[in-house]
Formats: sequence, structure tokens, C-alpha cells
Amino acid sequence: MGEIKKVLVLGTGVLGSQIAYQTAYSGFDVAVYDISDEVIGKARDTTFPALAQTYLSQVKGATQESVDAALARLSYHSDMASAAADIDIAIEAVPEVPKIKEQVFGELNKVAPEQAIFCTNSSTLLPSELAPYTGRPDRFLALHFANRVWQFNTAEVMGTPQTDQAVFDRVVEFAKQIGMVPIPLHKEKSGYVLNSLLVPFLSAAAELAEGGYADPSAVDDVWRIATGAPLGPFQIYDIIGLNTPYNIMIHGDAEQQKLGRWLKENYIDKGYLGLAAGRGFYDY
Ligand code: NAD
Repeated sequence: MGEIKKVLVLGTGVLGSQIAYQTAYSGFDVAVYDISDEVIGKARDTTFPALAQTYLSQVKGATQESVDAALARLSYHSDMASAAADIDIAIEAVPEVPKIKEQVFGELNKVAPEQAIFCTNSSTLLPSELAPYTGRPDRFLALHFANRVWQFNTAEVMGTPQTDQAVFDRVVEFAKQIGMVPIPLHKEKSGYVLNSLLVPFLSAAAELAEGGYADPSAVDDVWRIATGAPLGPFQIYDIIGLNTPYNIMIHGDAEQQKLGRWLKENYIDKGYLGLAAGRGFYDY
């Protein structure tokens, strides 16, 4: 399996920009692609310089030179063919909308080198749902990052039954090369490892509070004191931001929808959206 030298990241939103910058910070040349000159210009002028500042202040060992060198390894494209020239791997981080992802992989397949590996960062779609659109199901898999990649550095690697084992192993290796802790999954699972654990855990906590059994702070106290965990579930809700769990709950079964309504009426509608808003279950 060839060496990975040049990387393409599709989408420069929350996760795409972090994945691209982390990869460039790790020494790779990274092409970034987004839908228009305007969007890609904003990423170049605002998003990436802001990420460089974040690394400078939050990443151990980061210097002005190292964060500037990472910026210099990025190239910006709104034309798919120029973005995909000579790439060894592409990581897709476009919106969580199947039609958009299908179209992006279809276009990419037309212009990318035949040998290039394609990955999706999708949180909720199984890679086998997207594989038919890639034109290379043997060289396609999920590489799933967590928000704030420089700090929460897991990379869940999940193939489909068609993914070539050598490609899977190469992506596990690549994840290490860009400073991630690779988490290989042996087969496809909606939610990967993280969300398979986290979503039921957070729902169980909401059930306790919504049902009037215990206050959020008491639930957190139990979890921290009795297990030694650093954070309780409601502290985690505040870090994630309450809109994302609400969106998951409101599309779930009747019990989940009830929890979603509780979250909305008691917190979201009052502007208590979590840590970033200065107030969620806690005041910050
Ligand atoms: P986002 O909305 O912040 O960014 C999406 C980006 O894709 C935008 O820059 C947008 O302009 C661009 N885009 C839209 N249409 C496009 C197209 N046709 N071609 C190329 N780019 C296009 O979304 P996000 O939160 O970064 O999520 C992206 C993916 O990452 C999703 O699949 C999501 O499930 C996954 N993910 C997100 C998180 C998270 O915490 N936000 C965590 C893990 C995985």
C-alpha cells in the first residue's frame, strides 16, 4: 500500500476545518475544498487562522512557527478537479445529508486518482450506504473524528464488508500519523463506539431528571463520586450543546420525544444552550 502524502478534506465547516488543520499540523500537504470561492475564502481568511490561534494557545508545544507552517501546507479550492489532483486520501466532512454526500463522492470519483482512498466522517450514516457512490467500495470506509480534534483525539475507523483490509490498516496507520488514537471497529455499527455508549447514557440521565427522580446536579454527583469519572452526564450535555441531543431525541420513539420536549421547554427555549452560551444545566 502506497505512502500517504497528499490529503484532501471536503467541507470546511466545524469538523472539516479541524481535520484539515490537524492533518497539516502533522506535516501533510492538505487540499481543502468547499462549494464556492466565497465559502473557501472565508475558511482561508477566518476559520483556519482562528484555528491556528487555538492551537497556539491550547496545544502543548505549539509555537508561532509550527502553527504558521501548518497554515502554509493548506491549499484552498472550489474546483473539485484541482482539489483532487495527486491526492492519496480524501476525507469527506460535508453536511449530514445523504444526497449531498452521494453527489460529492460521485463527483470526486470522476476526478480523483484511481488509487486514492476515500473516507467519510459521517456520524450517523453507515459507510455501506455511501459505498455505491464512491466508485471504489474496496477503498472506502469511515474515519470518524470527535469535535475539537486537537483535544479529543479519537479516530474511529469503520469499514464495510467490501473494504480491503490493507486499506483499513493503512487508514489506521494514517490516523496515528496525524496524532489521533485510532479505534478500529470490526464491523459496521450505527453510532460507532462513542455514540453507542454516550447516547443511551445521556438519555438515561435525562429520564431521571425529567421524571423528577433527581436533580441534574445530583445525577452528576452520583456519577462522578461513585465511578471516579471526571464529568457527569449533564456536564457532558453542556459541552456538546443542547441542540444536538434535542435533534436526536425529537426523531426518536415516543419516550425519546418526551425527553426532547423537556429539554426544549426547560432549557433550550430559555436560551440555556450549554457551555458555549454561558448557561445550560449549569451557569458558567
Ligand atoms: P458543517 O455544517 O459545519 O460543515 C459542512 C461544510 O460542508 C460547510 O463548510 C459547507 O459549506 C460544506 N458543503 C456543503 N455542501 C457541500 C458540497 N456539495 N461540497 C463540499 N462542501 C459542501 O458540518 P460539520 O458539523 O462539520 O459536519 C460535517 C460532517 O462531520 C457530518 O457528516 C457530521 O456528521 C460529521 N461530524 C460532525 C461532528 C460535530 O461535532 N460537528 C462530529 C463528528 C462528525
